[in-house]
Amino acid sequence: MNRRKLVMATAAVLVAAACGSASAAEHALSADVVVVGAGGSGMAAAVRAAELGAKVVLLEKNGVPGGGAAFAEGLFGVESRWQRAKNYGLSVEESAAFLQRFDHYKSDPKLRRLYLEQSAPTLDWVATHGIKFEAIQVSPSETLTWHVIGKYKDDQHGAAYIHALADSAAKLGVKTYLGTPAKSLIMKDGRVAGVKAASATDTYTIKAPNVILATGGFGDNPKLVRSLLGYDPARVKSSVPLNKTGDGYQMAIAAGGAKTAATAVLHPGTEGKGIKFLSNLYVMSWQPANLWVNDHGERFAPETLSFEFALAGNAIASQWKNEGWAIFDDAEAERMAKDGADVGVGVIIPTETKLPDIRKEANAAIAAGSDAVKSADSVEGLASAIGVPAATLKATFATYNKAAEMKYDGEFFKMKQWLRPLGKGKLYAVRLRPYWFCTLGGVRTDRGMRVVDSEDRPIPGLYAVGAEVGNVYGDTYTTWTSGHLFGFSAWSGKVAAENAVKSLKK
Ligand SMILES: Cc1cc2nc3c(=O)[nH]c(=O)nc-3n(C[C@H](O)[C@H](O)[C@H](O)COP(=O)(O)OP(=O)(O)OC[C@H]3O[C@@H](n4cnc5c(N)ncnc54)[C@H](O)[C@@H]3O)c2cc1C
Repeated sequence: MNRRKLVMATAAVLVAAACGSASAAEHALSADVVVVGAGGSGMAAAVRAAELGAKVVLLEKNGVPGGGAAFAEGLFGVESRWQRAKNYGLSVEESAAFLQRFDHYKSDPKLRRLYLEQSAPTLDWVATHGIKFEAIQVSPSETLTWHVIGKYKDDQHGAAYIHALADSAAKLGVKTYLGTPAKSLIMKDGRVAGVKAASATDTYTIKAPNVILATGGFGDNPKLVRSLLGYDPARVKSSVPLNKTGDGYQMAIAAGGAKTAATAVLHPGTEGKGIKFLSNLYVMSWQPANLWVNDHGERFAPETLSFEFALAGNAIASQWKNEGWAIFDDAEAERMAKDGADVGVGVIIPTETKLPDIRKEANAAIAAGSDAVKSADSVEGLASAIGVPAATLKATFATYNKAAEMKYDGEFFKMKQWLRPLGKGKLYAVRLRPYWFCTLGGVRTDRGMRVVDSEDRPIPGLYAVGAEVGNVYGDTYTTWTSGHLFGFSAWSGKVAAENAVKSLKK
């Protein structure tokens, strides 16, 4: 992927900076602020703290900066100048009212209100670092809150954000150490006194009165996935494994931080023999005109849910064995080739992208013995191919096709534009599986992003931001406020940095 290459280029600059300052095997450093994690929130925190005059050390576990943010595309904002440019009038109050109910009151509405109110100024601040935005809506279920990032040098989207902030960090004198994960916090008299970190060869003891944990969640830690989310990590997994093992969460809890509930931002997808990521068949796993069935052969959701990827992912994850099938016919494959996808995969595969190779890819996968792609000339044949009871699948088809003829889905209330009878020509089925973009939560903070203890008192000097934070989301994510995660990462990173620097002056 282009963005990966470009992040690597950024990394080369940062590695050089890191190497310049490290020669012995054991290093004793000091800083005003240590930021743990050079992703969406950590980059914002490091740059903001340095901009305000602090001496900043930025630690990154991987050999390149970026984390999940390097793969993301846009940030949430409301009442922004980019929305004004499109004559779009959603207000902070409308967003707050929607989210308050959507969250089932499982978050801190005042924390979220602060984020909503400051989302547009946060985008303005990000833009001062050379980042361009365009407000974009990519599905009928969204509002126009997704501020997709334009080009910066030779990067775009999240990689451009990381590249631009990495350039600013370097200019502002942030000392960045790649391939150097933080291992533990140094605590003294109940307050943060620094961090211990280690690269493959060297160890670091960094004295600092402020540490900002920005490690992006625990999606690549099977034990935490089981205990905090209750999912089988072999069945519900990261869409892009990034070595995010919940280090920030574990450090915060070890320091006496309070826990919150955690969740994950799921989306539909597929994998298996003969299926390439983002191929035509992969994109079919997101399409709303398909018929979705579970491993009993029963329909389980309105397929237009794929316009709200997180809810679609939840629906699939809730089925037996956390999986299902997306079924379509020759007529639908032809329509996709001619008219293109009804919904894109973010802006990487935009809506209306023509999918001419669906059947070619399906036939090749089937010829290779794929367990994730099947086809048949009849419903009975398909039932046998995907291993569901033929009588149940026939009944499901009959009810669905009746609903499609009447343009009324009394079972799941699917939007009628995407309700089409199935059975013209051959039938195809692609495995549906749930994946997550990132996990959310685990650590409780106050509204200044300070980690709080079991008595809700801030632990002096300890901050958590971005995906570490639990009390800003309810039990799931909504694309109604698209970009909410990345926007929150930038906002919370900036706020933590401002409060950390303020504390230096006390
Ligand atoms: C394909 C994809 C597309 C997405 N698109 C969007 C989108 O368009 N809009 C949106 O709102 N969200 C999107 N997301 C989610 C988005 O990536 C996250 O919201 C955002 O990156 C979270 O920021 P963060 O700083 O918390 O974590 P990250 O950006 O993941 O950064 C965490 C960093 O911490 C590092 N780290 C971990 N442990 C340690 C340690 N011990 N020491 C040092 N460093 C450590 C990691 O290596 C990583 O670099 C997308 C995610 C994916 C995977």
